[in-house]
Amino acid sequence: MKARVISIHYSLTDTKGKLIDKSSQGNPLVYLEGAGNIIAGLEAEIRQLKTGDKKQITVLAKDAYGNVDSSLVMEVARSQFPADQDIKSGDKFRGGSDAHSPVFEVKSVTDTHVTIDGNHPLAGQDLIFDIEVLETREASEEELSHGHVHGPHGHHH
Ligand code: ZN
Repeated sequence: MKARVISIHYSLTDTKGKLIDKSSQGNPLVYLEGAGNIIAGLEAEIRQLKTGDKKQITVLAKDAYGNVDSSLVMEVARSQFPADQDIKSGDKFRGGSDAHSPVFEVKSVTDTHVTIDGNHPLAGQDLIFDIEVLETREASEEELSHGHVHGPHGHHH
C-alpha cells in the first residue's frame, strides 16, 4: 500500500482519564505514514482506518515512549552545577549542547546531591488516544523522499 498523508484530531489521556494533550480545532495533526513521524503503536492502528473513522486506541508504554529506564535516573553531586544556580525539583535542562540531547528533569535536591531523570515524561505510561481521521491522501514523491508532509500544517521549504 502506498504511504498516505493523514490528518487527525486526537485527544490523549492516561489510563486514569487525565487529559495529557489534544489537537486544537482547525489545527489537526498531519503526518506521513511509515516515516516515524508519530509513535509506532498509534501509527500501526491508524493504518487500518479511513477518512471519517473514529477510534479509541490504547498504546502500551513499550509501543509509545518506552518503559522507564532506571539507568537514566542519576544522582549527581551538587557541585556539578554552578554554585549560584537555584536548582529545584521540576527544573528541566538539556544534557548536552545540541537539540537532540536528552532532557533531564530534576527530581530532588539535597545540600550535596541532585537526582535527575532523563526518561521521557510519558515513559512507562500506557496512553489512550481518541482519534478521528479527518482526511487522507496519497503522499507525493517529494514528501516520501523528505520523510515529512508539505503544504498546510506541514513543512514549508
Ligand atoms: Zn520537505
